[in-house]
Amino acid sequence: MPTREPIRCDVAIIGGGISGMIAAVRASQGGRSAVVFEKSPDARYVCNSRLTAGIWHCCLTDVMDDPRVLEERIMETTGRKARPDLARAVARDGLRVVRWMQNAGIRFIKGPYDYQSFMLSPPTITPQGRQWEGRGGDVMLRTLEAELERNGGKVLRGHRATKLLKEGDAVCGFAGEDDGGQSFTVLSSAVVIADGGFQANNELTRGPISPQPERVFQRNARTGMGDGMTMAVEAGAALSDLRGFYGHVLSKDAFGNDKLWPYNWLDYILAAGIVVGADGKRFSDEGLGGVDMANAIAASDDPSDKVVIADSRIWEERGTFGLLPPNPRLLDAGATVYKADTLEDLARQCEVDPESLAAEVRRYNAAVASGQASALEPARTAGKFQPYPIERAPFMAFPACAGITYTMGGISINADAQVLTATGNPIPGLYAVGCATGGLEGGEKKGYVGGLVKSSVTGLRAAEHILNQSVTLA
Ligand SMILES: Cc1cc2nc3c(=O)[nH]c(=O)nc-3n(C[C@H](O)[C@H](O)[C@H](O)COP(=O)(O)OP(=O)(O)OC[C@H]3O[C@@H](n4cnc5c(N)ncnc54)[C@H](O)[C@@H]3O)c2cc1C
Repeated sequence: MPTREPIRCDVAIIGGGISGMIAAVRASQGGRSAVVFEKSPDARYVCNSRLTAGIWHCCLTDVMDDPRVLEERIMETTGRKARPDLARAVARDGLRVVRWMQNAGIRFIKGPYDYQSFMLSPPTITPQGRQWEGRGGDVMLRTLEAELERNGGKVLRGHRATKLLKEGDAVCGFAGEDDGGQSFTVLSSAVVIADGGFQANNELTRGPISPQPERVFQRNARTGMGDGMTMAVEAGAALSDLRGFYGHVLSKDAFGNDKLWPYNWLDYILAAGIVVGADGKRFSDEGLGGVDMANAIAASDDPSDKVVIADSRIWEERGTFGLLPPNPRLLDAGATVYKADTLEDLARQCEVDPESLAAEVRRYNAAVASGQASALEPARTAGKFQPYPIERAPFMAFPACAGITYTMGGISINADAQVLTATGNPIPGLYAVGCATGGLEGGEKKGYVGGLVKSSVTGLRAAEHILNQSVTLA
């Protein structure tokens, strides 16, 4: 096969999700030639940005709030482990990026909850299963691509990046392979890694995320293989906070039933009841909510033996809560739900140790009744969610799994999205944006800031930093 001529551009972006598209459009608005290299050959390639529910928030707080309040929310949510410069940038620019997107033709509506001033239109979230065509994320990506083309840029589909190219200390392009199996090279003054994280690569998640990643459900587009992270490390980048992920607790039947993801989660039920393993024992604090519990299930010795235990009161009160109530959506979608008049019978149905479960529920109920749940081992806090006693038959059991949406950690960056070495120095010419990055979310506390706010702000800031550099055409 003949060798292709190198592709030359000012800014080469690896990945066509929201973070990469915003970086490309913003750079092209400033007069730079910008090309997005997207590995999928499909016209409407599926990525997390196309599947997204589209709610802009900052730690479940409205991006319209005072930036100082948002900054403090980020620090609090992440146990003060977020990089202060990144936290400040996201808090300050969360609203600015929404305004910039509106100017680029992207439409938002107000979401159902107070903190959701901006949700992509038309909404994606209510139907069963993955219905993204013609909805928020899909329309957003197509609008951004049209804007990029108007400014002279383009998206090259079927082009997967595999290796960064360096000249001295600086990154000057990358090599890759197209969907016809042909190698290509790109020469550019700036490279932006926007490949969306490493959640779908079991070899990379084994260890930091789970001892058995194949038992963790991929609640995502399954495109984030960590290529960007691998390439960046080879080029001298440092990594941050690989352990946490954003996700939810789903019915275990999601593995074979597409109606049970992305939105039919068990979070509201587990936050009122308890989660046990096959030994009938609790293993983590349900009061911290679904994101934390999904991380705890994934990190446990056996992520496939977990069961959410509730009773009829929880099912009727918490189960009917919210925009996406599990009662009756889980049943309508065909999830396995066990019911029994005694805890022992319930345990036998779902293959949990009967005596141990009954004893665990007795201990838990006594602690809830005396207001001592936080003294349980493990603690059952009531910060976000009040524990309910489990006492009113029929008792209910929901076989559960952890659903991973995106990895919170990744390539270390500063507030301009420049990739950093272990000594904290930027690697000239190299940027990383969106869910490819680490340093904002994650850490011990698994602080969820928001995939969209992180991706859009870092994409915008990378491009603006590039625009402030002197141009050297590759
Ligand atoms: C169901 C669902 C609902 C969500 N809802 C919300 C929400 O309401 N609010 C919120 O804040 N967040 C939400 N998120 C998270 C949010 O959508 C993501 O954090 C965000 O879209 C990530 O954008 P990204 O650009 O980093 O990655 P992606 O959108 O995943 O894009 C990465 C792209 O890079 C491409 N790529 C990968 N490797 C290569 C390579 N080697 N070469 C070339 N291309 C490559 C991939 O094919 C992909 O197209 C949701 C996610 C999901 C899945």
